[in-house]
Amino acid sequence: MNQQGKISFQKSTLLVPENPVIPFIEGDGIGPDIWSAAVKVIDRAVEICWRGKRHIIWKEVLAGEKAYKRTGRWLPRETIDAFQEYRVGIKGPLTTPVGEGFRSLNVALRQKLDLYACVRPIRYFPGVPSPVKEPQKVDMVVFRENTEDVYAGLELEAGRKETRDLANYLRKAHGWDISRDSGIGIKPISKSASQRLVKAAIDFALSKNRRSVTFVHKGNIQKFTEGAFRSWGYEIARLDYRDKIVTWEEIQESPPEGKLLIKDAIADIFFQQALLRPEDFDVIATTNLNGDYISDALAAQVGGVGMAPGANINYHKGYAIFEATHGTAPKYAGLNKVNPTSLILSGAMMLEFLGWPEAAKKIESGLEKTFASRKVTYDLARLMDGATEVSCSHFSELVCENMAKG
Ligand code: NAP
Repeated sequence: MNQQGKISFQKSTLLVPENPVIPFIEGDGIGPDIWSAAVKVIDRAVEICWRGKRHIIWKEVLAGEKAYKRTGRWLPRETIDAFQEYRVGIKGPLTTPVGEGFRSLNVALRQKLDLYACVRPIRYFPGVPSPVKEPQKVDMVVFRENTEDVYAGLELEAGRKETRDLANYLRKAHGWDISRDSGIGIKPISKSASQRLVKAAIDFALSKNRRSVTFVHKGNIQKFTEGAFRSWGYEIARLDYRDKIVTWEEIQESPPEGKLLIKDAIADIFFQQALLRPEDFDVIATTNLNGDYISDALAAQVGGVGMAPGANINYHKGYAIFEATHGTAPKYAGLNKVNPTSLILSGAMMLEFLGWPEAAKKIESGLEKTFASRKVTYDLARLMDGATEVSCSHFSELVCENMAKG
């Protein structure tokens, strides 16, 4: 295999050279702070595991404010080309430009590369302050559909002629009475996009020996979008995984040994149950907007958005961009203050995706030891008894030291 250079994708498998080129976007606001902290930890983990035999060649690509300043464009074509060429990349948070034809740079990147699964693992690290009594029971992986739903950006503004025309058409064709001062949004949910997301969640659950996949939806109200997501989910689970799964309707109590349980929950009650009985949930498959709310709410249970990693993946084409799940937190930009764990853990997810799980585990154990030492950034220090507040960069140095300790 080629030892240096591009990752390739053949027969549904990622072929990773020993020295892969990985494009990265530093990000806006706190992006440079957390990126320089995270890259140190990622490189150190690889170094500890393979002593120079493996090594990532980082390639900076531009997006957001840095791109705009240098090129006059928020998301240059070369950036999308680089992610397509090198397949696996990582990014910090990006500001949403106003009035540039982008709803959000993140959404544009996800749509352009068809990164249909947003994957967000939420697990607890002992010692991290949490608002719930038993945060150790939270261990979920959210698969959020990434290309459709109200995120498709199909909205018309109130007061415009095209909006009134559409309202008039809907009145005539369907008898829908939409107030004349309404904005109108369209929520597309397709069978193909729902089923490929559900398949990604089930494949992940089976490969990691997880116990269940729960479809979270609002199908009691939105029957032909959210309700259809649920029905299509069960349909593909029964069709493609018949001998590996059992559905809720088919069993009275616990699923038989070795079978993955497929179940569903309505979104509003899910929020309550995920707080009161988190141990009942494992892998979650859900629509785009639900997934956005759910992943931040679950992150709060394990220490906040500074702690939760994420990835946007197209499993069919072998493309993935890993990212911090929080935003640019502009008030902390350049202060070397914020928690870099979200981006560090996103880097660990990336290493696992590359087939380098040893380095991912190293990072997790380095983080565990650092949290246990109570030397943490401001967000955790303000909630932790007896904690010492450290800067973003010092936190990453401590993680590196703790990884080296074995
Ligand atoms: P935000 O940047 O996530 O910040 C909200 C609050 O979350 C911060 O004030 C801080 O809370 C906490 N926080 C965020 N990151 C943290 C970290 N690494 N460590 C510790 N605490 C952290 O959300 P926002 O203010 O709503 O959004 C700002 C900009 O980011 C917007 O332009 C938005 O569009 C963009 N955004 C980008 C992404 C992305 O690129 N994926 C995602 C979301 C938002 P305290 O004030 O309590 O300390």
